[in-house]
Amino acid sequence: MPKSQKEKEPRENNPQANNSPAKETFTASCSDCGDRNCYRNDKKYPSFCLTLANKKGAEQTKALYTSDSFEAILLKTAGEIEAEFYGRMTRVEATVTFAKKMGFKKIGIASCLALMDETTILAQCLSSADLDAKAVICKIGSIDKGDLGVPDEMKLLPGHKEATCNPVLQAQTLNQWGAELNIVMGLCVGHDCLFNKNSQAPVTTLVVKDRVLGHNPVQAFYLSKTFYSRILDFNRYPKSRLAKKK
Ligand code: SF4
Repeated sequence: MPKSQKEKEPRENNPQANNSPAKETFTASCSDCGDRNCYRNDKKYPSFCLTLANKKGAEQTKALYTSDSFEAILLKTAGEIEAEFYGRMTRVEATVTFAKKMGFKKIGIASCLALMDETTILAQCLSSADLDAKAVICKIGSIDKGDLGVPDEMKLLPGHKEATCNPVLQAQTLNQWGAELNIVMGLCVGHDCLFNKNSQAPVTTLVVKDRVLGHNPVQAFYLSKTFYSRILDFNRYPKSRLAKKK
């Protein structure tokens, strides 16, 4: 009987993974691989390699990308932007250029309330490229959290009207408008899941929300050996401000 994925393999050639807290067992995957031979084939594949394990999938997706599918057009266009503008375009510029190259006209923006100033600028950027932008704020529908059974103490401002984020209605509004591409601007974690799940158009994320790190969550990784070492230990995460009230 073959060894199960959880019983086996050392973290081959990946000093970063080997430095992380010891685990008796783990499921080896690309995060445990140091060689990344799949990129240029100039090293070697580890025994747990997902490329080796999914040759059929590689063949099937190759067929998809060489067909006249929508996926093929998306992949080709993304690749063109990488090739033409590598290291020279900001993500904002790349997003607008992607929309233009795809031939889209109607671009939806699913925005967080806290990102509306930036969303206004993004709409101007899209307009400068003759694209039609429609922004939908997360609070659309103005449904009070209390109407959903949320206890008053869970509001940021107890005793006041406080609308819930409504990512499903954001998506439905942009679906009805006929958005051909939707851009996410700072939706909360989880709300973005709901938006992505309900959007009919392809979704690209321009800004992810990080209320602590200025919407730049990668800083937590960059500082994971110093000021944000706690991210590697769930027990050291900030405690709920509601913990005593539960
Ligand atoms: S696909 Fe294979 S070679 Fe590529 S990163 Fe994953 S495990 Fe490493």
